[in-house]
Amino acid sequence: MEKTLVIIKPDGVKRGLIGNIIKRIEDKGYIISAMMMKQLSKEQLDQHYEEHKNKTFYPSLVSYMSSGNSLIMIVEGVNAIKGMRKIMGATDPIEAEPGSIRGMYGNNKTQNLIHGSDSLESAEREINLFFNSF
Ligand code: UDP
Repeated sequence: MEKTLVIIKPDGVKRGLIGNIIKRIEDKGYIISAMMMKQLSKEQLDQHYEEHKNKTFYPSLVSYMSSGNSLIMIVEGVNAIKGMRKIMGATDPIEAEPGSIRGMYGNNKTQNLIHGSDSLESAEREINLFFNSF
């Protein structure tokens, strides 16, 4: 079993897509073992997205990610890290496979509905950041 940190981003919450997205996660066979609704602060986002701090898109990413509530979850399952990335789809929803969450519901490269850790190290770091546990 693997743990990964998943965030339904503010656009997903505002658009009423929480239920649809959670259904996709549960249909895949993953277990949601923790869940927290929270408006993320700039300080938390600076830590969460530290690898992107110098990118040109960073200011708009932080302003969007702090614009409203996000649903932050720990998702568990066999190969959950890679598996979640697969059902999320590519970063840019235009490139994401049509059956993926981003491919199905998204149309904006920044406001792309969902985050999922990209490695075991990121999952551990991100779960610790939001839930103080791993
Ligand atoms: N992002 C953006 N513009 C870009 C690339 C990424 O606004 O050109 C945002 C987008 O919300 C993305 C997040 O920054 O989900 C983190 O980027 P990353 O490359 O880590 O993509 P992800 O792992 O989320 O697919």
